[in-house]
Amino acid sequence: MFNKRVKIKELLATEATGQEVIVMGWVRTFRNNQFIALNDGSTNNNIQIVVELGLLDEATLKRITTSASLKIVGQLIASQGKGQKVEVKATAVEVLGDSDAEKYPLQPKKHSLEFLREIAHLRFRTNTFGAVFRLRHSLAYAVHKFYHEKGFVYMHTPIITASDAEGAGEMFRVTTLDLAKQLPTNDDGSINYKEDFFGRSTNLTVSGQLEGELAATAFSEIYTFGPTFRAENSNTARHLAEFWMIEPEMAFYDLEDNMNLAEEFIKYLIRFAMENNREDLEFLAQRLVEEEKQLPQDKRSELGLIEKLEFVLNNNFERITYTEAIDILLNSPAYKKKKFQYEVKWGVDMQSEHERYLVEKHFKKPVIVTNYPKDIKSFYMRQNDDGKTVAAMDILAPGIGEIVGGSQREERLDLLTKRMEELNIPVEEMWWFLDTRRYGTVPHAGFGLGFERMVLFVTGMTNIRDVIAFPRTPKSAEF
Ligand code: ATP
Ligand code: MN
Repeated sequence: MFNKRVKIKELLATEATGQEVIVMGWVRTFRNNQFIALNDGSTNNNIQIVVELGLLDEATLKRITTSASLKIVGQLIASQGKGQKVEVKATAVEVLGDSDAEKYPLQPKKHSLEFLREIAHLRFRTNTFGAVFRLRHSLAYAVHKFYHEKGFVYMHTPIITASDAEGAGEMFRVTTLDLAKQLPTNDDGSINYKEDFFGRSTNLTVSGQLEGELAATAFSEIYTFGPTFRAENSNTARHLAEFWMIEPEMAFYDLEDNMNLAEEFIKYLIRFAMENNREDLEFLAQRLVEEEKQLPQDKRSELGLIEKLEFVLNNNFERITYTEAIDILLNSPAYKKKKFQYEVKWGVDMQSEHERYLVEKHFKKPVIVTNYPKDIKSFYMRQNDDGKTVAAMDILAPGIGEIVGGSQREERLDLLTKRMEELNIPVEEMWWFLDTRRYGTVPHAGFGLGFERMVLFVTGMTNIRDVIAFPRTPKSAEF
């Protein structure tokens, strides 16, 4: 029976009275044949196990190596040494699993994040990834808590979809056709998907929004939280081919309600992490300081991780229109000194360098940009009266760039179908989506928050591959 063990996090907060405890975990270090630092993943802090001389024979002592797993029975006592309040004086030590110290890839020294990506199956056993993934868990829990408390219904939207209404060309195909054989074709040479599993062409979803809208027009307020897939070939520190997205969708919301919800949501997640994962945040804050020591002064963050999070909590997000954003960029010293690589003019899709200028240099806080030109946004966004812009909103975060993309949706059937025709989106195939506009259409809005980008922001990590357990990126799907 293993269930009597106490987790190390709990043990470290327990008053030591010499009581018997059972603790299990993996060896981090073993000093002087006497002091084991044991970790079980409940916290980055290890419990010190004291093995008195003579308790174990020579052969057992040799098996206590880095990452061997142990069961310890002993007494919880006040620690003599500094660095910990309590320790366990072992009365019995059982090696549950040996670990060959010569071969174990994670030596007790500092490894680069790049190296750790190559051993992603073991990197959870480091302090950095321990902290990151406990935080990721907390944030995921907080997502559900936030929406549950507001009365939103959690919808599980499909992962396999047939609609290619959104980013065509960026989707992973789903098929059971045998690619090694001659594919079935139509008379015109195109592939005959009638022969395929679903009798039509299907792919992995890029967003749960369209199905989310169907549910929102019955439950009023829903959210999705699931994996999404994009075959975009962007090998950046902010893009994954498989990432998790939270997409709330609300009936009876306009653009301003939408922005208010998004801002409240982001702040709620940050506050939840600050209140529940303080220790891990402090560890990551320190990690960031160490990492930035290698950078020149002007490249270092002005605020520490925790100060940055506090600052975001205590200040309103800046709200500007796309047109104002372009004006700021055109009048910026960076533009005048030709520091931007990409073109700036009304109508262009802002590049990451522009977004980061606005957020990091100009406003120095999160910015919500609204009312983008309709030609750079999706067909379902609500058309503004000016005929040029749509009721879109993107939230840009310092160090990240776009973290949220959303809009008020076009609820007017005639304007929506006209826009779909202009963009060559098959109106008949989308009959089910358009039915929401046919039967009791309502003003509604929603957004998507990229979960990994949120985890990046809260942990201060800089590469998105380090905040998802097993990243999928172009040419990489190990583990
Ligand atoms: P970007 O311009 O950064 O590629 P996008 O405009 O394609 O983002 P949306 O389609 O609006 O993004 O998706 C909503 C949110 O999902 C984004 O704000 C972002 O947080 C996240 N996101 C989008 N693409 C990715 C990706 N490839 N990997 C991780 N997160 C992503
Ligand atoms: Mn994208």
